[in-house]
Amino acid sequence: MTDLPAALRERLADEVPFSSLTLDREAHARDGTVKALFRTHDGRPVEAVLMRYKDGRHSLCLSSQSGCPLTCTFCATGSMKFGRNLTAGEILDQALHFRRTEPVDHAVFMGMGEPMMNLDAVLAACERLPDVGITHRRTAISTVGWIPGIDRLAASPMPIRLALSLHAADEALRSELMPVNDRYPLADVLAACRRFYESKRRLVFVEYVMLAGVNDRYEQALALADVLDPKVFKVNLIPYNPTGMYEGSSRQAIDAFRAVLEEHGLRATVRLTRGRDIDAACGQLAARA
Ligand code: SAH
Repeated sequence: MTDLPAALRERLADEVPFSSLTLDREAHARDGTVKALFRTHDGRPVEAVLMRYKDGRHSLCLSSQSGCPLTCTFCATGSMKFGRNLTAGEILDQALHFRRTEPVDHAVFMGMGEPMMNLDAVLAACERLPDVGITHRRTAISTVGWIPGIDRLAASPMPIRLALSLHAADEALRSELMPVNDRYPLADVLAACRRFYESKRRLVFVEYVMLAGVNDRYEQALALADVLDPKVFKVNLIPYNPTGMYEGSSRQAIDAFRAVLEEHGLRATVRLTRGRDIDAACGQLAARA
């Protein structure tokens, strides 16, 4: 922009910051995953992760809040203090940070926070993501099951994917792991997901973190298969990333659980774990890069 007078350029640089976030630290995992820790102008920590996959996908994991007000027992973000909702600009600036050095093509709202509790800003950021190279079809919003948000996303014209963090088919166990289940019980959440499917005709992805001896037994796989309609849901089993509270299920237990789901006609995959050595994996974001 050398067609602007130098004095104006200087004033703009001072008064209109390049990004709403300042980069504090960046950590690089052995598998190519990069975690960035930012600060907002008021000092709130925000983390975002870039995952590079062998098939060429460059996927971003974005945060919607600094910290999280929910208190899921297995998630590190839930144990840090909740800061505040991020603005649309702060969400988009996470993507722009990585976009400056390489092309990116997928985004998931699976970083810090519950995106459905900050849906105005999340949707405003989603409207702009195609400018960064990420289409709506390649964007997914993950939720604990915040029903008003699921219904709003179903009504949005953007074809964004919905992912549901389910983790236990049994209401009592789910409430123990995810206290938000008392407010929005699973049965009602699944009904909202079905409404979403009916309006969008896009499969809802279920996330199920595998905790040894807690939610990985044979009967629990049967119960999960029982509540999920294979026309509406696809399951992604997530190996537990250590946060102190639990033991992760063994690979054999995960495979056996998956086999039960598949015998019942449900599509099920096991999520590749990325960035564990830099605490960048699911549930490990707690602002200590
Ligand atoms: N609040 C939203 C967005 C965060 S997504 C949600 O819960 O869906 C983060 C994903 O990682 C969720 O599916 C969450 O359940 C999962 N997760 C949290 N802690 C984890 C851990 N320790 N190991 C593996 N997955 C975890």
